[in-house]
Amino acid sequence: MTVDEKQLQEIVQKVLSRLQDKQGGTDQKLLGVYEDMKDAIEAAKRAQAIVQKLSMDSREKIISNIRKKTLENAELLAKMAVEETGMGNVGHKILKHQLVAEKTPGTEDITTTAWSGDRGLTLVEMGPFGVIGAITPCTNPSETVLCNSMGMIAGGNTVVFNPHPAAIKVSNLAVHLVNEASLEAGGPENIAVSVVRPTMETGNLMMKHPDIPLLVATGGPGVVTSVLSSGKRGIGAGAGNPPVLVDETADIAKAAADIVNGATFDNNLPCIAEKEIIAVNEIADELIYHLIEQGCYQINKDDLEKLTKLVLPENRLNRKCVGRDARTLLEMIGIKASENIRCIIFEGEKEHPLIAEELMMPILGIVRAKDVDDGIEKAVWLEHGNRHSAHMHSKSVDNLTKYGKAVDTAIFVKNAPSYAALGFGGEGFCTFTIASRTGEGLTSAKTFTKQRRCVLADSLCIR
Ligand code: NAD
Repeated sequence: MTVDEKQLQEIVQKVLSRLQDKQGGTDQKLLGVYEDMKDAIEAAKRAQAIVQKLSMDSREKIISNIRKKTLENAELLAKMAVEETGMGNVGHKILKHQLVAEKTPGTEDITTTAWSGDRGLTLVEMGPFGVIGAITPCTNPSETVLCNSMGMIAGGNTVVFNPHPAAIKVSNLAVHLVNEASLEAGGPENIAVSVVRPTMETGNLMMKHPDIPLLVATGGPGVVTSVLSSGKRGIGAGAGNPPVLVDETADIAKAAADIVNGATFDNNLPCIAEKEIIAVNEIADELIYHLIEQGCYQINKDDLEKLTKLVLPENRLNRKCVGRDARTLLEMIGIKASENIRCIIFEGEKEHPLIAEELMMPILGIVRAKDVDDGIEKAVWLEHGNRHSAHMHSKSVDNLTKYGKAVDTAIFVKNAPSYAALGFGGEGFCTFTIASRTGEGLTSAKTFTKQRRCVLADSLCIR
C-alpha cells in the first residue's frame, strides 16, 4: 500500500496526539515507557533475567520482528522525527531506517573462541553485561534506539534509554515497537525501556544506578565525557568533523558528486558526513566547477559573513540551523535559491569557524592545499583528534595510505560518499553508534558482550 503525503501527514498527527495522550497518562501507556526512571530500570532488570535464559534462536526471532516493524514503520518514524526535531529529510530518514532493519547485525555477530589440546577444552563465550544504559541523540533518534536495541538484545542484554529531550516522542515510539516485537515473538516486555520525560536528571540517575554496569553514549562531547567519568565501563560514540580530501589523481567529477551526496544526506546530520573539503590546488577550481554542477551554491564574501553570524552567533552553534536544508539556510540570510540547490560552498582558511566547527548542516568550506602532504596536515588538524571519520578521493594508493595512517580515524571512506561506511553503497554492517573515542569503532552485538572463559580440563579434546 502506498500512502500519499496528505494521508501520511494525518497518520503522523494521529500518532503524535495518541502519544501525547499516552504520555499524559490518559491512555494505556506505550510499552516500556515509564514515568519514573527507577521503575524503568527495575522493569528492564526483570526482563533481562528472562532474556538471558532465552535460546539464541528465540533472541533472533525477536530481532527479526524488530527488523520487520522497523521496515513497516520507516516512513512514519522518519516523518515523526522531522516533525518533532525540525531537522533532517524524510526520504533520507526512511532510507536510514531501512538500513537499520536490513544491515544491523543480530546474534550471528556473537562468536565463540575455542582451544582444544592435551589439557582439554577451553571456550571463550560472549555473555551479556545485563542492563545497559544508553543515551541517544536527536540527530538519528529512532535509528539509534532500534539499532542499539537489536545489538544489545542479541547479546542477551536489555536496555534503558535516556533519549534526547528534543526527540522524545519518536524515540519512545521506537522503544514501544521493540517491546511489541518481543511480545509478538514470545519474548518478554521491557527488553527496552525509557521514560516519558527524559532529562539530565533521569540520565544521571541511570548513569549512577547500581543495576547498570555498562553505559553507551551516542552524542556530543558533553555526554561522552559524562559517561566516561561515571566510574563504570563506558562506550563513547562522540562528535566528529570529518574532512574529505581530494588530490590531483582523483576522478574530480565523481568526487564532487559523491561529496555532495554524502554531505547532503539527511541534511548533513550523520556524524560521519563530509563536513569540509580539502582540495589540492591543482584540481581545486575543477572541483568547484563540478560541485556547482552538482547543485552547490557558492556564497560570496558578504553573504558568508551573514551566514557565519547566523550559524555561529557568539561562536555557539545555532540549533535552529542544524539539520536544515541548504535552501532554508540561504533563505534565512535573505537569498532565494533555485530548486536544484542542495549545498552551500565557500573557500576559506582551515581556521574559519564554519570550517573548523562541526555544523551538521549542508555547508562545505573548501580549504586549498599546495599538495597532498599539505592537505593531509590540514585535514588532520580539522579532525581535531576526534579519531572519528575521514574521507578521500584519490587514485593513488600511496596517498590514500599516507592519509589513512595520519588521520587514524574509526572510519576512512575512499572514493565514495561518506554513508558507504554504514553499509549504504559499501560493504559491511550498519550502526548509528560509532565509538570513536573509546575505540570500539562501529558497534554491533559483540560490542555489548563480555568475555567469559569456560574451561574443561583433560576432557573433550577428541583429536
Ligand atoms: P547531544 O550531545 O546534544 O545529545 C546527546 C544525548 O546526550 C542527548 O540524549 C542529551 O540529552 C544527552 N546529554 C547531553 N549532554 C549531556 C550531559 N552533560 N550529561 C548527560 N547527558 C547529556 O547530541 P545531539 O545534538 O543529539 O547529536 C549530535 C552530536 O552527536 C554531534 O556531535 C554528533 O557528531 C554526535 N553523534 C555521534 C555519533 C557517533 O556514533 N559517534 C552518532 C550520532 C551523533
